Amino acid sequence: MEGALTARDRVGIQDFVLLDETTEAAFLSNLKKRFSKDLIYTYIGTLLVSVNPYKELDIYNKKQMDIYMGVNFFELPPHIYALADNAYHTMLTEFNNHFILISGESGAGKTEASKKILQYYAVSCPSTTLLNTVRDKMLMSNPVLEAFGNAKTLKNDNSSRFGKYMDIQFDSQGDAVGGHILNYLLEKSRVVHQNHGERNFHIFYQLVEGGSDDLLHQLGLERGCQHYNYLTQGQCPIVPSINDKNDWKTVKNALQIISFNETATNHLFEVIASVLHLGNVRFDSDSKGHALLNNNTELHWVSNLLGVDAHRLQEGLTFRKIEAKKDQVLSPFTTDHAIYARDALAKAIYGQTFTWLVNRINESMENEDPSRKTVIGLLDIYGFEVFYVNSFEQFCINYCNEKLQQLFIELTLKSEQEEYEAEGIEWEPVQFFNNKIICDLIEEKHTGIISLLDEECLRPGDATDLTFLERLEEKMGNHPHFLMCQSKNDIVKECFSSMDPDSRRRPETVVTQFKSSLQKLTEILVAKEAWYIRCLKSNESKQSGQFDEALIRHQVKYLGLMEHLRVRRAGFAYRRKYDVFLKRYKPLCPATWPHWRGVAADGVEVLVQHLGYLPDEYKMGRTKIFIRHPRTLFATEDAYEK
Ligand code: ATP
Ligand code: MG
Repeated sequence: MEGALTARDRVGIQDFVLLDETTEAAFLSNLKKRFSKDLIYTYIGTLLVSVNPYKELDIYNKKQMDIYMGVNFFELPPHIYALADNAYHTMLTEFNNHFILISGESGAGKTEASKKILQYYAVSCPSTTLLNTVRDKMLMSNPVLEAFGNAKTLKNDNSSRFGKYMDIQFDSQGDAVGGHILNYLLEKSRVVHQNHGERNFHIFYQLVEGGSDDLLHQLGLERGCQHYNYLTQGQCPIVPSINDKNDWKTVKNALQIISFNETATNHLFEVIASVLHLGNVRFDSDSKGHALLNNNTELHWVSNLLGVDAHRLQEGLTFRKIEAKKDQVLSPFTTDHAIYARDALAKAIYGQTFTWLVNRINESMENEDPSRKTVIGLLDIYGFEVFYVNSFEQFCINYCNEKLQQLFIELTLKSEQEEYEAEGIEWEPVQFFNNKIICDLIEEKHTGIISLLDEECLRPGDATDLTFLERLEEKMGNHPHFLMCQSKNDIVKECFSSMDPDSRRRPETVVTQFKSSLQKLTEILVAKEAWYIRCLKSNESKQSGQFDEALIRHQVKYLGLMEHLRVRRAGFAYRRKYDVFLKRYKPLCPATWPHWRGVAADGVEVLVQHLGYLPDEYKMGRTKIFIRHPRTLFATEDAYEK
């Protein structure tokens, strides 16, 4: 009988901590029940679990934002706005820095989540006209970076092919006043090669489909992606869910808002067009097997667009320069080598331009006011992915995900349990899988995969695919760069001018650079208070209303959600240092107001007794009070507000 059903039966439980049993079956059944009612968000304490609905839900609008603004976490149905708001208010009251780590596999909804959070801050924080322009720039950085850094893959029609960490800076009033983006390892190989069913970066298709006749003419391009080798290898240039023409307009408009003037915009598209022309440069071989340019037209366009000398460009693509004593000798390439040099150049140009773009966006969002600001960092990194054949890129992407999972374990499971121990709180330890062994396997000095790869690259003789690629990249990839320093295109000139072509220093391998940038990211994150969003992919076919139980069970497992739940359930949702707690809430008790003249811990004990905390609702540690359920603290906070 419908009427007899409780809310719990109908829509499930909104916080897994309140589930009767902590079995995987109960967890999945609750998730499924909620998903069938379009309730895609559920909490585990303060962690937010989100299941990709693959359809537009009417829950992201100004009205919803207003509902969640300034309201305690557990008083309303779970929502990404609630998490965003809670981080924001904690930042304002405690004047500290935060970050929101969004994780999940490719297509699970991380990028969408990060956009919803940014929109929440842009729309609902206090504002002035001046700040509005900064906010618009922050919002508009998204379509631009997605156009240049996202692509259709087999897993996701809008897959992020770079990692992104964005700091949103707030002043002491809570106004969003500036932003800064760090980008991680763009998947450059996509510029020259796409697997079946995948595309190159969106921007190329947007340009050849959406650009005006005049613009295409000026860039020497023909309308339609079928004309370009770099756009058709995956054999799916047209994707039903993507409207390249409309997206082109959005990107053009966004570029304007983030202060790209006409000259900068033109230079940008000249670079993009030059990559397309490069992809069409073909080579024949002469009788000795040496590479010869098949046709000069494309090369001349590249030379025109980039403002580099055509002859030197041709030389760079078909000869290798060898330094012999004081002389330079030109040794001809085979066609394979020439193709490799061409592709290496295309990747280098695109990769450098992407970094340049991020820098320009950062300049436009920069806040020059030196007064102290607090930040909320948003981390949206490419999701874990496994294909039939996995390449170097998947290695880096998955390594990055393992590293973030390690951070999550360190910050939640491990440190949580260590804290109970340090504070002398009685505690039944929860077993969990620590993926540190995986990270060690990859990272350890001398014996880790990265060290071995580095060594392989140094060792002459037989090489695997990967070392071969890297060695080639290092040896030949740098070669055409020397041309590029003299480019007349401002972007290319700026991008390549810092590279010293004469440098004898062996460059670090890509993977070693990536390892150290992840190390730096970890340092940025551990200094902040963490919030987590775990995104789950509902099915592999990108369909709405499909809850693929096996797929979801798998994600729940490897994201460690059950362990997290067990630690949360057995533990205490909130904890505060005695002095901080006392300082804030002492007005609520005559014995502690205006001053408590003893040890802070004793004052807190008196205070909570006065507030009527029940014995099993809290525990007193060595330096902190631990509160089991959020509602206890919220009641106290409400009393304080009154
Ligand atoms: P990747 O690691 O490949 O970048 P991702 O986790 O960033 O993947 P998204 O690009 O955010 O995945 O999401 C993939 C698609 O799923 C979106 O393009 C959108 O169609 C759909 N989607 C994700 N989240 C939502 C949501 N909250 N509401 C509606 N649709 C969503
Ligand atoms: Mg993404």
